[in-house]
Amino acid sequence: MLINYNMLLFNNKKIKIQSLELKNKSKKNVVNVLRLDEIDKVISGNKIFKLQVSVQKAIELKYSGIVTCGGAFSNHIVATAATCNALGLKSKGIIRGETIPFNHTLQHATENGMELFFVDRKSFKDKKKLQQQFEKDGYYWINEGGYSIDGAVGAAEICNYIDDSYTHIVCACGTGTMMAGIIKGANTHQQVIGISVLKGYQNLENDIAALLTETEKNKSFQVLHNYHFGGYAKHPQSLINYMNDCYQQHHLPTDIIYTSKLIFAVEDLLSQQYFGESAKIMVIHSGGLQGNLSLPKNTLVF
Ligand SMILES: *Cc1c(COP(=O)(O)O)cnc(C)c1O
Repeated sequence: MLINYNMLLFNNKKIKIQSLELKNKSKKNVVNVLRLDEIDKVISGNKIFKLQVSVQKAIELKYSGIVTCGGAFSNHIVATAATCNALGLKSKGIIRGETIPFNHTLQHATENGMELFFVDRKSFKDKKKLQQQFEKDGYYWINEGGYSIDGAVGAAEICNYIDDSYTHIVCACGTGTMMAGIIKGANTHQQVIGISVLKGYQNLENDIAALLTETEKNKSFQVLHNYHFGGYAKHPQSLINYMNDCYQQHHLPTDIIYTSKLIFAVEDLLSQQYFGESAKIMVIHSGGLQGNLSLPKNTLVF
């Protein structure tokens, strides 16, 4: 962890590991959850790790700010805004879609000094052009959702909190940057399992591999595509019910986009005996709880 960054944001906090007892018909299973969500409310979970290398570069190269892009509910956008705010950098956020409601995520970003630019979906696709347009005037470019080798290298540090006794590490995937990082940081005997929250995005494995070295590509990892609950940010009532149950049973708060689907997947995989008898499982709670604020009041019990 970088000195500057660590002192300002992370503050040497110890990260809690919560043990979760998930019962299924035949037996009790215990998995451990790495509560990265508790590090910071806004710069939640994995974003602290994913942003650190890029932020360090921007500071060292004397940029005055950071520009990045994402959707209207993007945790990456808020996290970038809050990080820049804490470190005295300016920030610009390019948001997909011209007519979108001004939700909590965007409000948080604005409160942290981020200047927002709304672009139509077609222009949003042309990242080269956006980059040319926005990275001038001292703004350092970070890819959409933080997808980059720098992001993965930063995320690899998550493994510093997972000891060698674990046989499996399970995390949620959006761009796959965090998972690539965990593969980088994992021990060779550890299997990394990613739960994709996108519907049918089969290229995710290639996106992840593109952030890995040849040696890392030979490590043991797998992406599962059948726990998306309808697709990115889709949250049917069944998922909301699951989140409320999960909180009531385990005092584990989850978010609607990533971690609820992750915990659900782990529970389902356990019931299928996916991991094997002697497995010791670490599940990464990557944060994202701020996204729940966009739900109607009283939807969640926490
Ligand atoms: C951004 C995010 C992810 C996905 O990270 P990627 O590196 O894009 O795969 C997972 N969980 C939470 C809570 C996030 O905010």
